[in-house]
Amino acid sequence: MSTTTLTSIPLCDLKAQHEVLQEELAHAMQAVAASGHYILGPQVKAFESEFADYCAAEHAIGVGNGTDALHLALRALKIGPGDEVITTPFTFVATTEAIGLVGATPVFVDIDPSNFNIDVDKIEAAITDRTKAILPVHLYGQPCAMDRVMAIAERHDVKVIEDCAQALGATYENRKIGTWGHIGCFSFFPSKNLGCFGDGGAVITHDSELAGRVEMLRRHGGKVKYHHAELGLNSRLDEIQAAILRVKLPHLDAWNVRRREIADCYNGQLANLEAIVVPTEEFDRTSSRCVYHQYTLRIAQRDEFREKLTSRGIQSFPYYPVPLHLQEVHASLGYGQGSFPHAESAANECLSLPIFPEFTAEQQRMVIDAVRSVRSQTPQSRLCA
Ligand SMILES: *Cc1c(COP(=O)(O)O)cnc(C)c1O
Repeated sequence: MSTTTLTSIPLCDLKAQHEVLQEELAHAMQAVAASGHYILGPQVKAFESEFADYCAAEHAIGVGNGTDALHLALRALKIGPGDEVITTPFTFVATTEAIGLVGATPVFVDIDPSNFNIDVDKIEAAITDRTKAILPVHLYGQPCAMDRVMAIAERHDVKVIEDCAQALGATYENRKIGTWGHIGCFSFFPSKNLGCFGDGGAVITHDSELAGRVEMLRRHGGKVKYHHAELGLNSRLDEIQAAILRVKLPHLDAWNVRRREIADCYNGQLANLEAIVVPTEEFDRTSSRCVYHQYTLRIAQRDEFREKLTSRGIQSFPYYPVPLHLQEVHASLGYGQGSFPHAESAANECLSLPIFPEFTAEQQRMVIDAVRSVRSQTPQSRLCA
């Protein structure tokens, strides 16, 4: 029996996607290079319009990255020092970084252990007279129950900013995420469901005043060139990235369908294994669609399990190993071990497996066999179509 593993299966293979679209992408980049127009030109304008159409939003504004999208959304809503923003402790740090950077205070609410997203039932108890916004994150591509979030926001007259960085294309009750709240924030970081060749992001909104504020703030806070009303940022999507995104956007739905097929295949062959919990979709699958930015298991003795997978040539990663309320950067908020037990156990048990649109059935079979063998099960050797 062979003891060495020659193959290595990555969590995400960005080169595989590039190979498929290589010619079109090279052409698009070359055309921008030759145009002499590199910042806030026709490509960004066209992408903003196509992206708004895709999301069924009134306005889309291209910005420098997803973190800035959140930052600019908060600034556009005039949220700042003394204000509180309710969010989840189980997300990427960018979510609370943006809140902190505008001088506001993140207020955490524990997650729902069944879907890793903010527990909507616990939001209302966290609202105070300083609360200005609720910032749900559609983690791993799984939509939050936005109708219920919006009902709470309306009752208390607070705004809703959706962090859609991991969930572009996901729907909740037949409506794209990002269009439920007052403002939706996206990232085009290369490994996101729609990724460019560097940093990129966008904000969407139905509100033309908010759109105008984001547009002004992304370019130094002035409506008229060299006249500055507010402190802004330099945070623009650039022409090359916009051109790349315009090539890729028409493929996004097919890629997301493929991600769902991969998740279904994993679920079919990993459910019922000892001490493994596969992800579940909470809502009706025809009207609410998870887009599986990550396929994330819960596993007891996660780190030991992960080491065994690594030794079998399979990459995996615990997104995220430390919840935000236990991060040094947020020590001043005064939370501690035990503040949010569901987020803490998710951080201890979560493990994301390889998933990307170009993942082959054969690669997936190897991952499934490796997981089963770590659990002392016979290989299943069943290829999903
Ligand atoms: C990626 C990500 C961001 C930040 O996006 P960048 O483009 O990397 O700045 C924000 N929130 C979540 C949940 C993310 O996954």
